[in-house]
Amino acid sequence: MSDIKLVSAPPGIEGAGFFATALDKAVGMARANSLWPLPFATSCCGIEFMATMGSHYDFARFGSERPSFSPRQADLLMVMGTIAKKMGPILRQVYIQMAEPRWVMAVGACASSGGIFDSYSVLQGIDEIIPVDVYVPGCPPRPEAIIDGLTKIQDLVRSESLRRRESPEYKELLGKYGIL
Ligand code: SF4
Repeated sequence: MSDIKLVSAPPGIEGAGFFATALDKAVGMARANSLWPLPFATSCCGIEFMATMGSHYDFARFGSERPSFSPRQADLLMVMGTIAKKMGPILRQVYIQMAEPRWVMAVGACASSGGIFDSYSVLQGIDEIIPVDVYVPGCPPRPEAIIDGLTKIQDLVRSESLRRRESPEYKELLGKYGIL
């Protein structure tokens, strides 16, 4: 017997021979279940990501089995590890090269806040240079926590309005980071 679970359909109106829903909901469902992550892994948290991608935790269950090492073919930037200040401009460039819509997950204490490295050379959180959607706590976070972060991202993606990326609020957010 197959234990494949089907994704539930977005809310809509159902009748004999028809099913009507909003375009936002259908697009959100498709996007949320086919996120392509770009693993920006610089240190130990990256090893947890490798475990998360392995067969035991199986990230592929969420439609994310295709890690992209090209920013232009990725829509979820996963930053895992200590980010030195020298690396900041490179991370920012990777983010800029990703097409909209794009989401960002800061995985672990270092990416979220600099972690234990309260030093002159380490960026004290990637949200100093790019906007972050979900923070995953831990040093390192276990694969379960990374999966929990992904499901939070999926919730955001599923419920995002198609107009959000064109909104003045979103442009203002990017403007604060000097990204247009
Ligand atoms: S949060 Fe901890 S495990 Fe993750 S990169 Fe930093 S020091 Fe390593």
